[in-house]
Amino acid sequence: MNDDQLLRYSRHILLDEIGIEMQQRFLTAHVLIVGAGGLGSPAALYLGASGIGTLTLVDSDTVELTNLQRQILHSSDTIGQAKVRSGRATLERLNPDICVHEISVRADDMLLQQCVLHADVVLDCSDNFVTRHAVNRACVQHCVPLVSGSASRFNGQISTFDARNPASPCYACIFAPDHPFDEVSCSTMGVFSPLVGVIGAMQAAEALRLIAGIGRTLAGRLMLFDAMTMSWQTMCISRQADCSVCGAMQCNPSSSTLASTGQVLPELLRACMMLECLLPAFLGFLIACEVPLA
Ligand SMILES: [Zn+2]
Repeated sequence: MNDDQLLRYSRHILLDEIGIEMQQRFLTAHVLIVGAGGLGSPAALYLGASGIGTLTLVDSDTVELTNLQRQILHSSDTIGQAKVRSGRATLERLNPDICVHEISVRADDMLLQQCVLHADVVLDCSDNFVTRHAVNRACVQHCVPLVSGSASRFNGQISTFDARNPASPCYACIFAPDHPFDEVSCSTMGVFSPLVGVIGAMQAAEALRLIAGIGRTLAGRLMLFDAMTMSWQTMCISRQADCSVCGAMQCNPSSSTLASTGQVLPELLRACMMLECLLPAFLGFLIACEVPLA
C-alpha cells in the first residue's frame, strides 16, 4: 500500500481484526454484484469505499426516475444511462483505487458461469427468482460463497449460502427452483427507501468478513428485518439432502459445522412468505434460532 492508501484505509487498519494484512487482501479481492439497484447500490458503495480491488456490476436495466428514491448509486443526471455505467462512474469518483467492470446484460446461466468463476464472493442483489436461482447454481458449481439479500415493503432478509461448507444450505434448499411463483406481484410492491440501505450494507459487511475470514458468517442463518418495528429475527436454515442443486455436490468441505435448534415460529414464517411472494415450499425448512450457533 502507498501512503495515500494507508491514510484512506487507516480506520480499517486500526482494527485489530483487519489491520494491514486484511486490508491488503481487500485490495486484491474481487466481488461480483448481481443487480445495481436498491441493494446493489449501498453494497457496491461500501465495498468500493472499503477498497475491494475489483467490483463487477451486472445489470441490464437503465436508470429511471422511479429508481432514485432508493438506488443511491444513481442520480438525476444519469437517468437513461445503463445502471452499470452510472454505478461505475459513481464508484470511480468515490475511490479511484478500485477497478469496476460493467456488464450491461441480464444475468443468465452462461454469463454467470463465467463471472462467478473469477469472484471471491458473490452478492445477489437482484429482484427476481429466475436470476436468484441462476446465481445460486453458478455459486454452488464453483464453490463461491453467495450473500443473498432481498427487500420488499418494510421487510428485508439476508443470508449467506456457502457451498464450501458441507453443512450450509444453498438458496435452492430454501426456495425450491421448480415451485411456481409470481414475479409481477414482487416487482410492483413498494419498498421503504432506507430498508435497502440496511440490507445492502449488511451484504457488504458479510462480503468483507468472508474475504477477511473474521467473525461468524450467516451460513445456516436467515436474518429477517422488520423496518416497521425495527426488529430482527434470526432463523436457522438447513441443507436439504435431496436439493436439486447442491444435493449431490461435494467441494472443498471446510472444518466448520453448523447446528440448528429451536422451534418454528408462525409469525416469522408469515413474514418470510410475504417477503418471498408466498412460497409454500419455504415452510418446511425454517427453524427459529433460539441459541447461538457453534
Ligand atoms: Zn441446496
